[in-house]
Parts: sequence; structure tokens; C-alpha cells
Amino acid sequence: MNYKFITEFSNALHTKKISSVELTRYFLDRIKKFDKQLNSFITVCEDEALKEAKKADELLAKGQAHALTGIPIAHKDIFCTQGIKTSCGSKMLDNFISPYDATVVKKFKEAGTVLLGKTNMDEFAMGSSNENSFYGPVKNPWDLSVVPGGSSGGSAAAVAAHLAPAATGTDTGGSIRQPAGLCGITGIKPTYGRVSRYGMIAFASSLDQGGPFARSAADVALLLNAMSGFDEHDSTSVNKVVPDYSSTLDQPLNGLRIGLPKEYFGKGLDPEISKLIHEAVEEFKKLGATIHEINLPNTELSIPAYYVVAPAECSSNLARFDGVRYGYRCDNPKDLEDLYKRSRSEGFGSEVKRRIMIGTYALSAGYYDAYYLKAQKIRCLIRNDFVEAFKKVDIILGPTSPTTAFKIGEKVDDPVSMYLSDIYTIAVNLAGLPGISIPAGFVNKLPVGMQLIANYFEEGRLLNVAHRFQTVTDWHTKIPEGF
Ligand code: GLN
Repeated sequence: MNYKFITEFSNALHTKKISSVELTRYFLDRIKKFDKQLNSFITVCEDEALKEAKKADELLAKGQAHALTGIPIAHKDIFCTQGIKTSCGSKMLDNFISPYDATVVKKFKEAGTVLLGKTNMDEFAMGSSNENSFYGPVKNPWDLSVVPGGSSGGSAAAVAAHLAPAATGTDTGGSIRQPAGLCGITGIKPTYGRVSRYGMIAFASSLDQGGPFARSAADVALLLNAMSGFDEHDSTSVNKVVPDYSSTLDQPLNGLRIGLPKEYFGKGLDPEISKLIHEAVEEFKKLGATIHEINLPNTELSIPAYYVVAPAECSSNLARFDGVRYGYRCDNPKDLEDLYKRSRSEGFGSEVKRRIMIGTYALSAGYYDAYYLKAQKIRCLIRNDFVEAFKKVDIILGPTSPTTAFKIGEKVDDPVSMYLSDIYTIAVNLAGLPGISIPAGFVNKLPVGMQLIANYFEEGRLLNVAHRFQTVTDWHTKIPEGF
């Protein structure tokens, strides 16, 4: 197969150079051949995928196809898929077959995509390395001894290794941008409320947002067109027209004001990464942008604030997994209390339990003001930093992560050092802003991600800036050796 990008596949499908059945077969074969090494899929939907591909070919033959008709896709196993196991990376939901489709899944079905399968992830999306999955760790295709990032590591690894041309993810504190960065692909976290959360299993509801992964900004634009929009099933989804993100990709960048936050280039950042990001900045200057130093003074408070807010919300959201209605139930409970206790003790992994305990503590009477309320106030300060910054600049640019992908096992016993790998991504969720990670080069053969952040609902601007960068660089075209 000589094509890499959805834009190319779509063109080949519409001009009948390939069929969706052929394309789907191609990716299913690659999953069979390579996924033993990566562990990026929890479920592969071979029969259903071939049926859907056949249907897509009929639509293509009738000339009733959209840009995404017949394009294979993988969904993070956090999105409910009717009739298909939806595990959220947890033993708790290992036996759960969803009775309905998440809105995102439904929208992709309506666009004619073909579901290849469900991707591996950190349990309940809690993690930065994909080592917290009940189904085992995912490996990074650039080096099988390092992590792909998390929590959407399965989606990122699958797209990076070309086992799927597109995948969905969710981002609560960085889980789309960080794995996109560490796997050398493009991933966007939209503005909070842009993409429906209905049927997306909740972790921290005021932070969670779904978004797509692909190899280029132009591909991501096509995917975001399909998945965005108001949904009456999600009370936090925003009723605002969705622009055609593909139509503004080529806008020139003359006069674009790019801000470099001082706090994103300080201690802790690998100097080699800093160098690559500054090289990228030079490209943007050539494209007509102006560069400004800015401050986001409350950046260092974002991790502590997040690790109060996110556990607090998760402790409440995960109370529904009680062994009664669905999911894992312990054997032979003595009484109701024993049923609750043992189902939750046996069904959840250790990181999830750690967060539930922290969150329950932070929300309990007497501690609420000291922790939760204080964290919410800090959240407001963090948001205000961005509001001030966007008075001066149009785009904020920096690294996605302070280091390249780390070794599997390196940080498992040190949760705080693991939490710090999200230092540049978490504030964006606390503020509800959109952010994208795009490939910006390699350090010691491992990919480096560059993050661009824009003002609310300016996903079109982000994709435009990312696309223009990808027209003058080729980092996004690389495929890991051996795949
Ligand atoms: N790594 C962060 C956490 O563990 C963010 C995860 C996410 O965005 N889902 O909470």
C-alpha cells in the first residue's frame, strides 16, 4: 500500500483505485501481523469490519459517500460500542457488552467509517504510560522497550505503527496529546464541550474530552469534522456551529502571533527537546509568524490542582461500579456490604483505587474547603493566565512533554514522577482550552511532540497552524522501522 494518509485513502476510494474491503483487509492483516508485539488492541472486530466495509463500498459505488466513507478506524475502549465489549481497560468491565453506542461512535458510523476494533488504554484513563491496563502494557512502535504514553496509548501506538489510519482518544490531563507526542503522530484535544461525552466512560467529567489521532493535521481535521457538535444527551456539550476544519487548513500564517511561555522551557525540559522546538519556531518565523515571550505564572500549580480535582470527580463517577448492575461481581458475597467491598477491591487496579481514596478524602466533610475548593480556585487562576496570554498572542507553543518516551517500568513505583510528565498538558484541561500535539523531530530515535494551544473553539486555527508546519516539514510522514 503506497498511501499513508486518510486524505490519500479517501481519494483512492472515491476514484475506485481501492475498495474499502481491500483497505480494511490490509489493516486487519497488519493488526494480525504486528499487534502481538504492541498489544495496542483489546478487541479486533474482523467480521463486523468486513461487513461494514462492504456496505461502504456500496455507498461509494452509488456516489453517496462522505470523505470518511470506507475509512477504517479504531476506538479507544472507553467509548461504548453497541454489542461490542467496552472494557475501559479494567477487569471491572471485562465482561461488559455495551447496549448502546457513544455519540462519537454513532457519528463515525454515520460518516461511513469501518470499526477495526477497540484499543488498549490505562484503566479508566488514569495514567501516562499505558502500564495501568488490565490487559497489559502497550509498547511504543519506535522502541518496544519504552512506553507509548497514556492513557490513550493503544490508539496512538496503533496509528503510529500504521495498524489503523485513524483512532479516537480521550484527554483529561493530556491523554491525547502526550501519547501523540511520544508516538510521533498528530492528536488534538478539542475545547471542552466541542465533542459529546455521551457514552464515553467518565473519569473526571469537568476535564474529559474526546478527540482524534491520525498522521497529519489534514487527517485530524476530517475526523474532527465528523465527531464534533452539539448533543442533547450531554448537558455540557456546546451548541455552537462546527466549522469545516478542512476548509481553513491552507490559510497563510502572516502576522500570526505565537507566544512561548517562559514556564514551558525551564528546569525539567530535556535540552535536546528544547532545541527541536526552537528549530520549529524558526520554521514558523519563515511562514510569517511573529514570536513573543509570554508568562503562564501558575503553571506549576496545575499538577497539584489537577490531582485534587480529577480524583475527586473520579471517586464520584466510579461509585457506580458496585457489582450490582453491571460489570465485575465477586464470587459468593456474604452480604451486600461484602458484595460492594470485594467487587470493588477485586475489580479495580491499584492506580484507580489510589485515586478513589484521594478523591473521597478530598471531598469529605472538613477537608472539602481545604482541598477541593482551593483546587477550584487555583483552576480559576490558571484559566486567567491563559485569558491574559490570549490578549497578546493567537497561539501558545511549547513542547508536549518534558522528555521523550521513558522505559517500561521506569516510573511505575513513583507516581509523582509519572504525574509530572503531564506538566505542559494538564493546565489546558483545567482551563478547558483546545490543544494539539504534532511531530517536531527525534531525540535518540524517539519522537518529540510540539504542543500548540489556542483560544476557546479555535480548533480550526490550531489545525491550520499545524498543517502549514506539516507542509514545510516531514516529521509526520515517518513510520517506525520494522512496521
Ligand atoms: N496522566 C493523567 C492522569 O493520569 C491524564 C490522564 C488522561 O488525560 N486521561 O490522570
